[in-house]
Amino acid sequence: MRVLKTILIAAVCAAFAGCEDARRGGEYTADFFAMDTVMRVTAYGNESEKAVRAVENRIGELEKMWSATDAESEIFAINHSGGEPVAVHKETAELVLFAREIAEKTGGALEPTIYPVLTAWGFTVGENRVPSDEEIAELLENVGYERISVAGNEVRTGENMMLDLGAVAKGEAADEAARILKENGISSALINLGGNVRLIGGKPDGSDWRLGLKDPLGSGYAGVLNVSDCTVVTSGSYERYFTADDGTVYGHIIDPSSGYPADNGLLSVTIIAKEGRLCDALSTALFVMGEEKARAYWRENGGFDMILITRDEVIVTGGIAEMFSLDSGHEYLRLTVI
Ligand code: AMP
Ligand code: MG
Repeated sequence: MRVLKTILIAAVCAAFAGCEDARRGGEYTADFFAMDTVMRVTAYGNESEKAVRAVENRIGELEKMWSATDAESEIFAINHSGGEPVAVHKETAELVLFAREIAEKTGGALEPTIYPVLTAWGFTVGENRVPSDEEIAELLENVGYERISVAGNEVRTGENMMLDLGAVAKGEAADEAARILKENGISSALINLGGNVRLIGGKPDGSDWRLGLKDPLGSGYAGVLNVSDCTVVTSGSYERYFTADDGTVYGHIIDPSSGYPADNGLLSVTIIAKEGRLCDALSTALFVMGEEKARAYWRENGGFDMILITRDEVIVTGGIAEMFSLDSGHEYLRLTVI
């Protein structure tokens, strides 16, 4: 009898929830796999289903243009052009230009032509290995954002160079997703493109979203961010890595100055700002730079907040400090506000 009552109550709640959803237009969520990662888009409002489906379609289109491995993509065409100019969609030209710009601003920490080195480590082909120093040195000769040129809708790189927009594409896709949702009248949504989180407004009740910040060394959360209407992007080698025979762990973010996976003590970098692609580009670049240079870059450039996690410290910039709280199991981490 008691079980029956519980089931009934549950059914009634579900029914009420249904009415409530129908009245305010409801919540719609899509989970899908794109750009080599798991994505989830949740929107609230009258047109939520239509809007979320439009986002999923559009991300599929962007992936078709930007995938480095798809032989039909524009990036693939550039990478197999032998250094000849390639006509691409406006979106592609703009994103390449943006990546080049940030590469320049970060002194080459973001390096959109690192792909051949990344491949040598096996990250794109799924069979990881440790390349020899000679092999890395040779491959680095074909790395250098300075040799990318964009003229109108034409992109050109040096012969034997390879572009990879993997460090910025998800951020740009998140911006595009936000534009589409807003065009469809959505004022509350959470877009999570493989750790690139774009928030539209607050939760439907107006309160902030609670985002868990992954513990780079464990399975739980190192802390929680309470934020609205911004983008939060985290880069860390824990996202994708392999362990070599000698036990060394190698991550998927390459330090272009050495050709080795970045290994400078930073475990993760989270960037918080309005624009998704900036967050994405900087999370990767500052992860490569390491703590000191990341702090200097933030001081000199501003325009964003960040959370840097090392083995024993969490460094948070002042603009976000009040929105961040350390998880109760992680109080051994020293919290420094800069
Ligand atoms: P993210 O997850 O945004 O930090 O980007 C990491 C991805 O960008 C990697 O999986 C590579 O495809 C690519 N990548 C690795 N190292 C770099 C680098 N130094 N600059 C630009 N892209 C990189
Ligand atoms: Mg990135």
